[in-house]
Amino acid sequence: MAKIFHQPIRMCATCRQRIIQNELLRLQCVDGSLQHFVGSGRSFYICKNCIEDENKVIKTLMRQCKSGDRDRFTNKLKEIIADDRKS
Ligand SMILES: [Zn+2]
Repeated sequence: MAKIFHQPIRMCATCRQRIIQNELLRLQCVDGSLQHFVGSGRSFYICKNCIEDENKVIKTLMRQCKSGDRDRFTNKLKEIIADDRKS
């Protein structure tokens, strides 16, 4: 059980809670388009509670991506959630 203390803690960009990295999704925006973090560039974390709360998370995405294309984010978000459930 002591293992948990060695897990990196990151802040959810939506609710600002500090949570172990395993419980967060790491995302990034490239040219205004949302995707899973691919290893370089600026990224942010969304916790698994917030990712289910579309209205909340879309606001965060619009801020992080500096884009107002809500429909595009909604679709991409669904893909990301589906991917996450597979793994
Ligand atoms: Zn959150």
